[in-house]
Amino acid sequence: MKGGTHVPLFLNRDDMMKYDIAIIGSGLGGLECGCLLAKRGFSVCILEKNGVPGGSLQSFGRGGMRFDTGFHCVGGLDEGQSLRPLFETLGLMDLPWRRMDDDGFAEVVLGDRSFFFASGHERFAERLAADFPRRRENLKRFAAVLRETGEGLRRMLDAGVSATGSYGNEAFGVRAFDFLRRTADDPLLFNVLSGASLTMELNAATLPLYVFAQINNSFVQSAWRLDGDGSAIVDRLAENVRRNGGAVLTGAKATRLIETDGRISAVEFNGGERVEARCVISDAHPAATLELIPESRRIRRVYRERLSSLENTFGFFTVHLHLRKNTVRYFNRNIFVYDSEDVWGEHRRSPAGATLVSCRVPCDGGEFTDNIDILTPMHWEEVERWADTTVGRRGDEYREFKRRRAERCVAAAERRIPGLAKCVERMHTSSPLTWRDYTGTRRGSAYGIRKDCDNLLYTMIAPQTPIANLLLTGQNLNLHGILGVSMTSLFTCEKALDALGASKR
Ligand SMILES: Cc1cc2nc3c(=O)[nH]c(=O)nc-3n(C[C@H](O)[C@H](O)[C@H](O)COP(=O)(O)OP(=O)(O)OC[C@H]3O[C@@H](n4cnc5c(N)ncnc54)[C@H](O)[C@@H]3O)c2cc1C
Repeated sequence: MKGGTHVPLFLNRDDMMKYDIAIIGSGLGGLECGCLLAKRGFSVCILEKNGVPGGSLQSFGRGGMRFDTGFHCVGGLDEGQSLRPLFETLGLMDLPWRRMDDDGFAEVVLGDRSFFFASGHERFAERLAADFPRRRENLKRFAAVLRETGEGLRRMLDAGVSATGSYGNEAFGVRAFDFLRRTADDPLLFNVLSGASLTMELNAATLPLYVFAQINNSFVQSAWRLDGDGSAIVDRLAENVRRNGGAVLTGAKATRLIETDGRISAVEFNGGERVEARCVISDAHPAATLELIPESRRIRRVYRERLSSLENTFGFFTVHLHLRKNTVRYFNRNIFVYDSEDVWGEHRRSPAGATLVSCRVPCDGGEFTDNIDILTPMHWEEVERWADTTVGRRGDEYREFKRRRAERCVAAAERRIPGLAKCVERMHTSSPLTWRDYTGTRRGSAYGIRKDCDNLLYTMIAPQTPIANLLLTGQNLNLHGILGVSMTSLFTCEKALDALGASKR
């Protein structure tokens, strides 16, 4: 077992199961909070319901090949960029990062044309200006807004989160769709600039400019893959928690929060065991967290109803291709393939009409990749009829449904990688049902609670809950993805320090 520990039978509740902080869930958010607080000298215990830690960052093996689930690339790791300082603090910078092509870390395919996103704000604008010479100034303005949004984040992190007061940024209240239409001032360019944001759901009515700009900015700063499993991030964080005296318990599903005098005194897991803690952080979905404490005078009905009624983003269907040896050349970029030029509508229009094609760094250091992942949005309604089934027991009809969708995904990817189907040795797939069953995410949502720029106060969730020592973290709160979850971990840790009365180291 990599990275986690099954609950040991010898645990002595009196001296081993009392911690300063108990964390529910070992996704990126739970692990980062655990790491930061353990480093600060607090005792930390992370409870993970699955057999391996990592949540969406898990990797898995099939037929001698390794695949990643929810990690393909990250942005902003270069000197002076968004994620670098935090990754240094977390000990993640010495993982084998591979910089993606500066001249085209993302390729957006619309119809039969390709457009490339370059790293560096000036280069980004110049590269696309070659395709849109009359829109050079528009592109510069676009790049400037990305840069400003990123610098705002940097200032906030430099000043310390509390100095600037929560997430405040006016770009939260602006629709990304409106901003793009206005700034591009050209229908094709508008779609091109949106094209690398498939993983942001591209919901015209709700997607806040802040989310769009912050995530795009980090990739325009610089884009990176890992040479090897994405779960190296998980292993490193779990190792750091343990090195600082903390525990990561796998196969430990939190089943109840125990409240004493208006505070959480313990987390019950697997229906019987308990971890006592002065502060509890939940990396699980906020609505699922409240289900762990069905009765509490502190938690009003209106708060419960708000968290349980919020909509979640769509899920993904992923095809993991195990390729025959030396058949497909490694491409050091992500490719976004759309059937039409309507990027914002395509994911609703046709199955696999919008796909992200990514590949792994060759494990032998050679020129050919061993595996490709193809991701396409999938809405819960498509798999709802199998909602009562569990992994591996969903029946032939479901298998056939997945086979057909996988074929369409491969056909989409073949537009840029001709002959791909013939290079496939084996194929594995996952759907929103898989995500629901492995990570507990609602309706198989990929990114959790959908942020709505017209309804911000309602859809942005604060780490604090009505119970002073119960905090939330993870992608549901603020931004999703590695950058967003990492930002939120800082917010949550600050509130945890308040709840603990701070100090230690
Ligand atoms: C297909 C896909 C591809 C992605 N690719 C990228 C990418 O390339 N780059 C990027 O930046 N982001 C990417 N993301 C997003 C990124 O992976 C997530 O935003 C991030 O990993 C979420 O972390 P989290 O800690 O918020 O939640 P999760 O990873 O969902 O972790 C929650 C954890 O809590 C555990 N849990 C839930 N309930 C309980 C309980 N009762 N008791 C104990 N444990 C519990 C779950 O098992 C899980 O381990 C991708 C996401 C998807 C779906």
